[in-house]
Amino acid sequence: MKLLSRRSFVTDLTMQTGLLLPLSLTAQNAIKVDPLEEKPKVKTTRHGELTVNTFCLGRLKVNCFIVSDRNLNCIVIDPGARAEVILDFIRNNRLKLLAYVLTHSHLDHISALDECYKAMPAPVAMHPDENDWAFCEKNQWEPYYPLTKPVKIERPLKHWQSFKDGNLNYTIIHTPGHSAGSVCIWFPQQKIIFSGDTLFAGNIGRTDLHKSSFRSLLRSLGAFLALPPETKIYPGHGQTTTVKTELATNPYFTHVPDKTNVK
Ligand SMILES: [Zn+2]
Repeated sequence: MKLLSRRSFVTDLTMQTGLLLPLSLTAQNAIKVDPLEEKPKVKTTRHGELTVNTFCLGRLKVNCFIVSDRNLNCIVIDPGARAEVILDFIRNNRLKLLAYVLTHSHLDHISALDECYKAMPAPVAMHPDENDWAFCEKNQWEPYYPLTKPVKIERPLKHWQSFKDGNLNYTIIHTPGHSAGSVCIWFPQQKIIFSGDTLFAGNIGRTDLHKSSFRSLLRSLGAFLALPPETKIYPGHGQTTTVKTELATNPYFTHVPDKTNVK
């Protein structure tokens, strides 16, 4: 596919991801009532003994995931909005929450963290390179995304670190670019990966935000080249896809700089 200029990448992306929203937008130019009041539907997908429950939450339609095992242990990935929806689902299904895992700290992925944590404490996992943004004043968009109060990060994530929460076995892959501390959460046994805003179906995350780097993001895409092609990708926004589909159709993969630079 034809090489796109950097400018067209950015334009494309801002259209697609929704995160164009001006992190500085103030309440007076925002619409007064969030139209997304109705109860969001959950989409449930089984991968053997692991279940992925997907909610599309908030004004910026972030995908929040509640991943559970057969013993009802679960983790929450990206509690971006609607804390009551996340908490109700956990309670109604009698799940045992073992961790909150953040793909990165942009408001649409983190805004409901404090409310969830207060009602249902569990270790919070985030990459330390997100520390300067997660709880800073700019990381809000009232009334849709209030600033989340600081929460202790019990699990400062490292590249290639593995976790076992119940029967949920996953590995963190640090994929800077969209933000400095963006990570993907890989479940090798089930061949699924949560890609945050690093990779979307047919697209990649914006790189015009705080500590974004387009070059780093392209380099980070190299991580996907090492995964089995049938690996299913659950992105931070939009539809699921697979590694095979993205390698074949996503134009950004033709620009991954050093294909050997992959663990
Ligand atoms: Zn983001």
